[in-house]
Amino acid sequence: MLEDKTPQKTDIASLGEFGLISHLTQYFTIQQDSTIKGVGDDCAVLDAKGLKTLVTTDLLVEGVHFNLSYMPLKHLGYKAVMVNLSDVYAMNAEASQITISIALSNRFPLETVEELYSGIQLACEKYNVDLIGGDTTSSTKGLLISVTAIGHAEDEKITYRNTAKENDLLVVTGDLGAAYLGFQVLEREKQVFEVDPNNQPDLDAYTYLIERQLKPEARKDIVRILNDLEVIPTSMIDISDGLSSETIHLCQQSKVGCNIYEDKLPLDPQVISTCEEFDLNSTTVALSGGEDYELLFTIAQSDFDKIKGNPHLTVIGHMTDEASGMNLITRGANQSVPLTAQGWNALLEKNTES
Ligand code: ADP
Ligand code: MG
Repeated sequence: MLEDKTPQKTDIASLGEFGLISHLTQYFTIQQDSTIKGVGDDCAVLDAKGLKTLVTTDLLVEGVHFNLSYMPLKHLGYKAVMVNLSDVYAMNAEASQITISIALSNRFPLETVEELYSGIQLACEKYNVDLIGGDTTSSTKGLLISVTAIGHAEDEKITYRNTAKENDLLVVTGDLGAAYLGFQVLEREKQVFEVDPNNQPDLDAYTYLIERQLKPEARKDIVRILNDLEVIPTSMIDISDGLSSETIHLCQQSKVGCNIYEDKLPLDPQVISTCEEFDLNSTTVALSGGEDYELLFTIAQSDFDKIKGNPHLTVIGHMTDEASGMNLITRGANQSVPLTAQGWNALLEKNTES
């Protein structure tokens, strides 16, 4: 349903590698003072200005991490950047530069790669990061994209995964589970389309979910908010695999346990209604859905007053001693259920089997 309908098809070979790179990067401007040299030389040159430098990278493979039949290229470019920026913000740092490396098979014309780069450019503009380099090569099959993000932060503010303390509060940003449900909706529509290409899907009830899947936003704002509130989290991670598995990472690396309260999990109304429609448990979706790109962090109890009432932040539980384990305290019954790191792959398998 979201097939590439670009009428023009320009063979990439006609541009040559240098032609392609300069064509793709021509509209990118340098926004950061820390970028001394961007695209165009053997290396980019950065000036960290006394701050610590943070580096993170991700490799995305067609058919494994994305599917072009319902992921428009522009969205893919945007999302590939978001996934990396989210990792920088998860360290309580500011993202400032990215590099993009791509491998393309000859089935991709120039117009398709332009689409990809228009999404990358939108992300750079919106998040104030500079594209400072990359690599371009061919692949025998499919598209590969590797993004590296670079960030900067004061040493004292960098927040690791292994420093949560017993009795700290566990806080999550935004809401959970929507990206996973967006994927489910798109999968269903794709199957309907394959049976009847004339069927026009009515996706109004799922706009938020689809947007969360196709155009996630990394939480740059949270790094600012925490800074303004003068809160330095005691530990932090971003939610790519799902709340459950990220909480387990924080706990295991910090050698603490936790209690998460089911009735505190922030859910959008579209998540609740779509879970009912798909006969899914909204708590399971929130815990294991993944791809939300929200931040999960712990704070000292003494910082609670500073974050209280902030609409972006929800306290969902607290850290305990390691021996108490990692538990979900259920709604109503108040039972304690051990958290499991299901991740959204497990959810997916269960769904496609049935
Ligand atoms: P080298 O041969 O030294 O690796 P390249 O010809 O690959 O240099 O790259 C030339 C310049 O273009 C470098 O600054 C490189 O970082 C940048 N570059 C190459 N590919 C890309 C890309 N896909 N996106 C953005 N910049 C790129
Ligand atoms: Mg190169």
